[in-house]
Amino acid sequence: MQVIGWIVLLLVVLGAVVLGIPAIRKPLLSRPLLGKFRRILPQMSDTERDALEAGTVWWEGELFRGRPDWDKLLAFPKPQLTQEERAFMDHQVEQACALVDDWEITHRTGDLPPEAWAYIKKEGFLGMIIPKSFGGLGFSAYAHSEVMTKLSTRSSALAVTVMVPNSLGPAELLLHYGTDDQKNHYLPRLANGEEIPAFALTSPWAGSDAAAIPDYGVVCRGEWQGREALGMRVTWDKRYITLAPVCTLLGLAFRLYDPDGLLGSQKDIGITCALVPSDHPGVETGRRHFPLNAMFMNGPTRGHDVFMPLDFIIGGPKMAGQGWRMLMECLAAGRSISLPSSNAGMARMTARAVGGYARVRSQFGVPVGRFEGVEEALARIGGHAYVAEAARTMTAGAVDLGEKPSVASGIVKYHVTERARLVVNDGMDVIGGKGICLGPSNFLGRAYQQIPIGITVEGANILTRSLIIFGQGATRCHPYVLAEMQAVREPSPQKALHDFDAAFWGHVRFVIGNVLRAGWHGLTAGRWAAQPSNVDVATGHYYRKLSRVSSAFALLSDMSMLILGGSLKRRESLSARLGDVLSQMYLASAALKRYEDEGRQSDDLPLLHWAVQDALCRAQTAMDGLLRNFPNRLAAGVLRRLVFFWGLPFAVPDDRLGQKIARLLTEPGSARDRLTRDCYLPASADEPVGAIELALAATLAAEGAQAKLRQIDKSGLLADNPLANVRDMTEAAHAAGALTDDEYAVLRRRDTLRDTVVRVDDFPFDVLSANSTPPGGQT
Ligand SMILES: Cc1cc2nc3c(=O)[nH]c(=O)nc-3n(C[C@H](O)[C@H](O)[C@H](O)COP(=O)(O)OP(=O)(O)OC[C@H]3O[C@@H](n4cnc5c(N)ncnc54)[C@H](O)[C@@H]3O)c2cc1C
Repeated sequence: MQVIGWIVLLLVVLGAVVLGIPAIRKPLLSRPLLGKFRRILPQMSDTERDALEAGTVWWEGELFRGRPDWDKLLAFPKPQLTQEERAFMDHQVEQACALVDDWEITHRTGDLPPEAWAYIKKEGFLGMIIPKSFGGLGFSAYAHSEVMTKLSTRSSALAVTVMVPNSLGPAELLLHYGTDDQKNHYLPRLANGEEIPAFALTSPWAGSDAAAIPDYGVVCRGEWQGREALGMRVTWDKRYITLAPVCTLLGLAFRLYDPDGLLGSQKDIGITCALVPSDHPGVETGRRHFPLNAMFMNGPTRGHDVFMPLDFIIGGPKMAGQGWRMLMECLAAGRSISLPSSNAGMARMTARAVGGYARVRSQFGVPVGRFEGVEEALARIGGHAYVAEAARTMTAGAVDLGEKPSVASGIVKYHVTERARLVVNDGMDVIGGKGICLGPSNFLGRAYQQIPIGITVEGANILTRSLIIFGQGATRCHPYVLAEMQAVREPSPQKALHDFDAAFWGHVRFVIGNVLRAGWHGLTAGRWAAQPSNVDVATGHYYRKLSRVSSAFALLSDMSMLILGGSLKRRESLSARLGDVLSQMYLASAALKRYEDEGRQSDDLPLLHWAVQDALCRAQTAMDGLLRNFPNRLAAGVLRRLVFFWGLPFAVPDDRLGQKIARLLTEPGSARDRLTRDCYLPASADEPVGAIELALAATLAAEGAQAKLRQIDKSGLLADNPLANVRDMTEAAHAAGALTDDEYAVLRRRDTLRDTVVRVDDFPFDVLSANSTPPGGQT
């Protein structure tokens, strides 16, 4: 026994010497490991690398590393509007909403009305991200997001028209990479709407794999403005390009070649971005697509051998070939704002209008929002709307802190659009046929129709979930993986070994720490896991649970990378589940941050509880799914024992919580107002949402009289009266003298508004033949 003890001690000392002394460790362990890594790391193209390495890491990095510092999260400043931005929301945005009628746009005219176009140009909506020094509004990312959110509560055509010039496109690219001449010329004209921009990347052959675009330019000499000039002949065929049919300035991405060496020795220069006036000879625009009847301008653009000077390249000739890197670097800011805002807006409006409708509309003598089945749907609507809003606000705030959060922007784009889809779907179920029959009285059918647009654009959602969130997260958020990858690619052997040695052994220490932490939290159910120092008694346990999930996630992701190596990239179902865990932690932290930033509003607690419990449960489902499908069954068993020592700990939100949320959505109150703030709410009953608002107030005002009406009905007084039916009861009771004039007036007002709310539109028999050609379309 004593001998064994000595042998073990000797091995430990030897191990410590080998691991602890770099001069021994590097040649003995690190060098062979570096060689192995070189063989197993997946091959990566330059474009893939640019995409993976673009942007910055923010709060999602803390969650990835297994030990989130909650004080750091809560110390991020609450995003706020300046007075000027608030005034813009209350006046210009309100007015822009008032100028459009979504039914007119989507069914009759196929475009925004000319007054709305003129107004958004004049008031600078198209230049929100352009600094004041160039004539733009110079709004913060948060203000930009607020504007987009409110516009989306009114009309997606309006919202998308404003969204695109403020997202990744000519203005954003010029601001970062434009020459002074380009900035001075174009930015003021973009800011005041003199120029309408579009940005064309997607081609019929390259959608998600946008770096594969076949569109090309060849450097050559040609004639420009009467003189010989160095330029390029560009050929392109693009589709789905928003604003292309009406744009005056076309941003164009293509691959540039220099076969004759006119610019240097490089023949394949790479993806290049240029700005081309749409009236430049050879540029074809004007034809339209009809994206699910949203009726914002969208269409193809083509050009064949179009000569343009090199000065058209954004940033001038020196930026030739830098297009992909430019696009990737700028992608995160727009992706953090555009779709998250527009979809949070849709969710917000659905929560407001469907909640009101569910209180106004009765069946079986009961408001439909009081049936338990409908309450479940309302609970989901409220919970998802709360978390969607929290995530888009927190992420816009990150952009204002100077971040370009590439992973968080993917998370928020994917999850807010998915949550909005769930909200709108549930909303459609709650309002029944009212949502199905299209017409001016339908406030939700178009949103239902158009919700897949947000799912598809700016990184289609399946790809974003499967490839981007964890794929990019593993490289960017992990404290050591990027350093290891960079070391593996390092050309200098000495530096490669030095960098790899530092990263790899740091990684090993990190994994050991996570094994111990995840096992400890699994065993103790996270009771002693990290929480913020100034913790609220209602929410403290959520932070501890999230700390536990974070340590489990860090362990699972490292083990997945270790065991699956390069094949994890192809095993999308596994990496997507890891991405789901990261995403749910991000969403739950956004909800907790929202609760703190809004001053711990106790009325909002049902929404917060629902949002965090739902997120924890989804994270758990993802981890469970990962372990169930993990190819190495032994490792899966050990990992399950570590992270779920006592079984699966989290449960879905319970029914009582759901009922509280349903109440909150169906009755006026501060929590409902906070959840649905800055919705465009027309004051008139001629507008469907305005009618719901008025009808809800009238329904509540009539509650006392309604109770009396029920008693009258039960008493049998009106037994033989044919008017004593669901529609005419008020009339019957009043005629029988059972209601006072005041009670009658209150009930009549309620009935009239309720009738307006439940009404659906009908049309002349031949209405569709009159519209058989899509508005403005060619067949
Ligand atoms: C209304 C609208 C507006 C648009 N505006 C613009 C614009 O202004 N400018 C512009 O350049 N482009 C624009 N686009 C293009 C948009 O970005 C693309 O539609 C998008 O990139 C997806 O390409 P695709 O439609 O060809 O789908 P595909 O690439 O054919 O993808 C089909 C499906 O496969 C999935 N998929 C693809 N690759 C993977 C993978 N590796 N792993 C898992 N799943 C994968 C996708 O998620 C998707 O579900 C717009 C599109 C639409 C519909």
